[in-house]
Amino acid sequence: MIARLLTLMALIMVISGCAVRTTVAPTMPMGIPLADLCERYHVNWQWDPITQEIIMEYRGNKSKALVGSSTVLIGKRPITLSAPVRRANSTIYVPDDFETKVLAPFGLPIAGLPSIESSSRVHTVVIDAGHGGKDRGTMSPYKDMDEKEIVLDVARRLKPLLEDAGIKVIMTRDTDDFISLPERTIIAAKSGADLFVSIHVNSNENRRVKGLLVYYLDKVRQRDLSEDQRKENAYIYLKSLKAENSPVLQSIVTDMMDTVKTVQTRQLARDIVKAARSEPGVFVRGNGMRLCHFYVVRNTLIPAVLIETGFLSNRQDHNKLVSSFYRQKLAEVIARGILDYANE
Ligand SMILES: [Zn+2]
Repeated sequence: MIARLLTLMALIMVISGCAVRTTVAPTMPMGIPLADLCERYHVNWQWDPITQEIIMEYRGNKSKALVGSSTVLIGKRPITLSAPVRRANSTIYVPDDFETKVLAPFGLPIAGLPSIESSSRVHTVVIDAGHGGKDRGTMSPYKDMDEKEIVLDVARRLKPLLEDAGIKVIMTRDTDDFISLPERTIIAAKSGADLFVSIHVNSNENRRVKGLLVYYLDKVRQRDLSEDQRKENAYIYLKSLKAENSPVLQSIVTDMMDTVKTVQTRQLARDIVKAARSEPGVFVRGNGMRLCHFYVVRNTLIPAVLIETGFLSNRQDHNKLVSSFYRQKLAEVIARGILDYANE
């Protein structure tokens, strides 16, 4: 009887609209499961249920997040997400922008980069992040990231991309240290590398000037050949081939290298420009190629290019260069150019 009475009362309440409705909280989107994203980016991760801390690791780079917080630390640098990291049972959810802000720059999207073929002409590459230490390079007009920081970051992102494709990488610097120009070319001579790729950021008095440029040397001039550092590098290189005591072999090798250098450097520059052009969001200035006579380009014996990734003096370029997402994009573009060149 009581049960029937209660049912009747409930029915009346529902009909009259005064039933206690199950409150549907405004649904906050849970976001994307972190496990899925980390799997896609090959990032190892761990969640500590006691501290609620999430540690992500990729090739020795660490990133930290906290359930309930929208701040993520990439190394020591804090990034703010559009919403906090959340948890439901033991599944961790992250907001939409987590992928572009944290994982893309931190992990590897490996967006279809080719591997080197067995017949590849490139096995080892020297990546030269310009400036460093006391030499800040181009200073940011907005006092955020200077050239030395931007280029080191791009170099560090480029390294694993090339390694994953099967190329050995030598970095002239992997820290914020000052390395002189001669030292950089000596590293190249000693390494037995096939390519030298120097990464820089440009600047111009005209703030409207923007875009990526690849600089290369069109011919090795007589006075370049007699430059002391170049001679020393040639000796170091020949020594590595055990040819330093044979003048005939020496002249054959150096002649060959000069020819290879001038022909192939142009091709390498062209491939990098082509890769940059095919990437939406990367602006290439003019035809993208410029002749130069820069120290590191003329004093290396192997094909060498110097990439000016953009103009820090231009607001649009600046905003792109200080974004980790864009720097990842640059690294991918350069990697694609090198790999295309390697497999031609
Ligand atoms: Zn520079």
